Amino acid sequence: MKIILNSGREKSLLRRHSWIFASAIQSVDVNLASGATVDLLSSGGNFLARASYSPISQIRARVWTFKDEPIDKEFFRRKIREAMALRQMSMVESHTNAYRLLHAESDGIPGLIIDRYNDVLVLQSLTAGSEFWKETIADILVEETGISNIYERSDADVRELEGLKPIIGILRGTIPSSKITITEHDLRFQVDIEHGHKTGFYLDQRHNRQRAGEFAKDRDVLNCFCYTGGFSIHALANGAKSVLSVDSSADALALLDENIALNRVRVPAERHISIEGDVFQLLRKFRDENRSFDMIILDPPKFAPTAAHAEKASRAYKDINLLAFKLLRHHGILVTFSCSGGIDATLFQKIVASAALDAGVDATIIEHLSQGSDHPVSLHFPEGAYLKGLVCVVMSQPGNELKNNH
Ligand code: SAH
Repeated sequence: MKIILNSGREKSLLRRHSWIFASAIQSVDVNLASGATVDLLSSGGNFLARASYSPISQIRARVWTFKDEPIDKEFFRRKIREAMALRQMSMVESHTNAYRLLHAESDGIPGLIIDRYNDVLVLQSLTAGSEFWKETIADILVEETGISNIYERSDADVRELEGLKPIIGILRGTIPSSKITITEHDLRFQVDIEHGHKTGFYLDQRHNRQRAGEFAKDRDVLNCFCYTGGFSIHALANGAKSVLSVDSSADALALLDENIALNRVRVPAERHISIEGDVFQLLRKFRDENRSFDMIILDPPKFAPTAAHAEKASRAYKDINLLAFKLLRHHGILVTFSCSGGIDATLFQKIVASAALDAGVDATIIEHLSQGSDHPVSLHFPEGAYLKGLVCVVMSQPGNELKNNH
């Protein structure tokens, strides 16, 4: 089976990028099934790559290989072994038993995510190609990892673009409870793999939670968009004076309470309060009440999934960062993130800079943060680098010096 590209549209493939858009295609063989393997040929008929076919999506094909090699079980076994080797090299298991084992395009299997939570793997299939090979991949995972329990969380909205329905449930083995206990930097968390966001936990923030925790000692911390309390618990365990956690999800906050109890030896529950509410409104309320903090964490959901949403998303990022700067005391720390693919690191820094300007504060970046090493980025797939964070210190607040505590 083959797809012939329009003249000149092989350029991205020659740069080893794995996506072929519908507009690049001249012709597709009839009867090519969804997810099936297909050769990509130049308009002159030269072999360029072997790919999976997505008949409905604007991304019409995703490359498996640039070599003339069979796409079969052994092909996927090699990819999975490579992904496992990378995690061994980055030594992620010395910090945690929960990590991303396979990060889609960046690990050579477009559309497939495998997260490990202790003795359970959670598989998320997002494209026609990964769906086509899902059962084979599940077999390989059991054979290669020695983990026999696989749960499927293929319920992300992007599946719709591929014409795929949501699928949730056990794929292999037995999983008696949907709540799995994991360890992250010596702290324990309950992860709900059935109802939680993404595959259950924001694994990409592991290192940043620990790093932010180190800054939290003796500080009054406001953790916005706290989910199940990752940043809050690291902050409390590191000696924060107080932590106020905010999220709009009651389920997330209920799990946060369980997570605090799970770590009671190191985490003083009496220093923690949570509020169920909207961060945008609550920051305004705190501003009007003249509340102040020594540290604010902003880890909002993806405001801009693609560049098309960048303008509206920029306004939302600026809004919360501006309000946060107003609530920070002298030498207060803002730990601020964007996980939006549509906002790159340069734009994000500009947004935070203009928020500081409008808030009337001078601030200095002391650290740049990004996703953990278990979320690698292929040099050929820069889109894989989606998480960016800044640690900013407020250096002066015109007319506001009296709030100083530090
Ligand atoms: N920092 C977390 C992950 C945050 S994910 C961690 O390390 O685990 C983003 C969170 O924002 C989700 O829990 C979601 O429920 C919450 N959320 C989304 N919109 C919100 C809003 N407007 N106000 C408050 N919380 C919101």
